[in-house]
Amino acid sequence: MEKEEMIHGFIEFLRSYADSKGNKIYVNKIKDLLTVTPKKSIAIDWSHLNAFNPPLAQELMDNPEEVILAAKDALRIILSEDFDEEELKINPRFYNLPHTLLVKELGAEHINRLIQVEGIITRVSEVKPFVQKSVFVCKDCGNEMTRLQRPYSQMVKPPRCENCGSRNLELDVEKSSFMNLQTFRLQDRPESLKGGQMPRFVDAILLDDLVDVALPGDRVIATGVLRIIMESREKRPIFKKILEVNHIEQISKDVEELEISPEDEQKIRELAKRPDVIDAIVGSIAPAIWGHKEVKKGIALALFGGVHRQLPDGTKLRGESHVLLVGDPGVAKSQILRYVANLAPRAIYTSGKSSSAAGLTAAAVRDELTGSWVLEAGVLVLADMGVALIDEFDKMSDRDRSAIHEALEQQSISISKAGITATLNSRTTVIAAANPKYGRFNRAKPLPEQLDLPPTLLSRFDLIFVLLDEPDENIDSDIATHILKVRRGEAEAVAPKVPYDLLKKYIAYARKNIHPVLSKEAMDEIKRYYIRMRKRAKVGNSEEGVKPMPITARQLEALIRLSEAHARMRLSDVVTREDAKEAIAIMEYALKQVAMD
Ligand code: ADP
Ligand code: MG
Repeated sequence: MEKEEMIHGFIEFLRSYADSKGNKIYVNKIKDLLTVTPKKSIAIDWSHLNAFNPPLAQELMDNPEEVILAAKDALRIILSEDFDEEELKINPRFYNLPHTLLVKELGAEHINRLIQVEGIITRVSEVKPFVQKSVFVCKDCGNEMTRLQRPYSQMVKPPRCENCGSRNLELDVEKSSFMNLQTFRLQDRPESLKGGQMPRFVDAILLDDLVDVALPGDRVIATGVLRIIMESREKRPIFKKILEVNHIEQISKDVEELEISPEDEQKIRELAKRPDVIDAIVGSIAPAIWGHKEVKKGIALALFGGVHRQLPDGTKLRGESHVLLVGDPGVAKSQILRYVANLAPRAIYTSGKSSSAAGLTAAAVRDELTGSWVLEAGVLVLADMGVALIDEFDKMSDRDRSAIHEALEQQSISISKAGITATLNSRTTVIAAANPKYGRFNRAKPLPEQLDLPPTLLSRFDLIFVLLDEPDENIDSDIATHILKVRRGEAEAVAPKVPYDLLKKYIAYARKNIHPVLSKEAMDEIKRYYIRMRKRAKVGNSEEGVKPMPITARQLEALIRLSEAHARMRLSDVVTREDAKEAIAIMEYALKQVAMD
């Protein structure tokens, strides 16, 4: 297609494309950005263009560089002819392409084409000026030469003066024009990967008014042109993909990836009506692991979660219940976490000694390629609104250790380093496992002393379960029988009461749609228990010295969350006295274990 034809195609499209009511969408958008909301770009729906001028829409995907420039020319002409605006430059930005790719699907066939990719942003660089139009001055004769630069390739510089042939050239910063540039890294969303797959990533460039529109942890759909650049300085024939972004859009984190059909919803509602629904769900968590009923129940409560609330003054009350499993080696802690990683919505399984620079929280690190500072999201940010399963929690880095308190309580992570300041969301439920400091637990000693975790951090967990490996003939025999059955593939040993796919959808459905409210009876129940426990702690103090973990207002909040989660597990909009009692029972169980009496 000729350039003139493209420009005319766009002029006609922008001037006349109208919706079903006859509103000229793009004329109105241009009017808006001249008056109401000054902006530097206009977003064009690819499907509109395709409906109006299919060859041009196809050409845009095959030959984006020229077509986007033609669209820009068309906008300049319309601004000048229809609006008498000579100065303004507007970027055309295209969205809603017919296909959305995953990062791992990007291949050689996409190079230099306009594509649409979906993923999660893991790191974002600082904003830097990019010299879009560079003016070189000859220091011998004063001749000026202009070169247009591309953000993804090396600086273009005239080899010698076009006038006198001198090599003595210098970039004139005053005369050159600059544009904001930022890079980010896009990675496949954890839930789009099958267990154990390594996520792929692609680096991307944002220019001009697109900088600072996204943060690490954001889920986005980006359209852009896939470029390749030489990977290393050693001129090996290896290239790296880079996405030159044209349009970027956040995807809401509330939207569940799981499709829940009306039939699914009916099955979910039927399951919720069963009188034994709680037991059925708890019994379906890690069925290959024998016993640990309370642990499974605690984890189930965390998976459903309490209700997030914002007070009128802006204070946020978290709904997420965090759960910690501590115990001797070989008691199936890791196995349970792995199982739950497949069940929970938006789950990420990781180890405390995670290999990424950002670790569990977030970090400012230097990008190897560009040398600029980047803000990189850790697991708790990437699993925002989901669940992080953290094994070997006690092995986390010192940096994580200091940042994780905020992450677990305020559900955000603030970072301020090297000119980067940001607060990232981490509304994440943490289910973690830790081993004792000295090999095995000693029942005679208080638990906190035997863990390489500070008590302040332990207090962020609503439930802490202690799993001891103590020989007991009956239990040992049961576990042995169970493990052998699982090994032999005996169906009843591993078949969950609720089919796995249904349970997954059930959890997602409940988290999204059910927001239970405490009944008066439930509040009374919780209050009574709290006051009783406080009194008991006081008595205990005077007689046997300080108890390792007296109940505090934190546990009161924990009880509220757990009661809400219990109601949610039944898909109930009301937290009943029964829900509160169940929450109290499981907390009692956990507290007793921690006290080791
Ligand atoms: P941990 O992380 O607590 O050190 P693992 O999760 O690695 O322990 O478990 C060790 C092995 O023992 C796993 O293969 C696990 O399946 C098995 N195992 C331990 N306890 C049980 C149990 N109660 N039921 C079934 N298997 C068990
Ligand atoms: Mg383990």
